[in-house]
Amino acid sequence: MDRPARAPAPPPGCVFCSIVARRAPAHIVGESGSALAFLTIGPLREGHALVVPKRHVVELTDASSTEASELLALGTRIAELQRRRLGSQGETLFLMSGRAGEQGVLHLHLHVVPRSDGDGLDLNRWWNERVATASPLALEAVARRLRT
Ligand SMILES: [Zn+2]
Repeated sequence: MDRPARAPAPPPGCVFCSIVARRAPAHIVGESGSALAFLTIGPLREGHALVVPKRHVVELTDASSTEASELLALGTRIAELQRRRLGSQGETLFLMSGRAGEQGVLHLHLHVVPRSDGDGLDLNRWWNERVATASPLALEAVARRLRT
C-alpha cells in the first residue's frame, strides 16, 4: 500500500535534486517515472551508478512504496545494462539510510556497483570480520518485537 508522500522541501543545496532538475551536470544512464540513474563521480568500479527518487526523499523510511519499488526496479535495469554493455558478472548494491546508517548525501540513493570475478573488492572478508552469531532464543526475541 502506498502512503501519502511526506514531502520535505528540497534543500536548495541538494546536488541530487539539481541533477534531477537537470540544473547540475551528470552522466544520466536511466530513468523511470519516479527514479533517475546516473554515474557517480566516485566510482568503486567502472560503471558504478546511483539511483535516486526524483522527489527529495531523505531516508528509506521517507519513500513511498512506489518510490522504493521503482528505485530497485531501475537499479535492476542498470545492473542488466552493466552486465550486457560493460561485461560485469554480478553487482553489489548499497543503500545507506539515516545518519546512523552512514548516509552521506541526504537524498536517498541506491548504489549499483558492477562486479566481476576477482575484482578485489573483497566484501565477504569485511563482512565476516563483523558479523555476530545469534542464538535461536535471541533471534526469536527480536522477531517477536518486529512482528505486527
Ligand atoms: Zn534532494
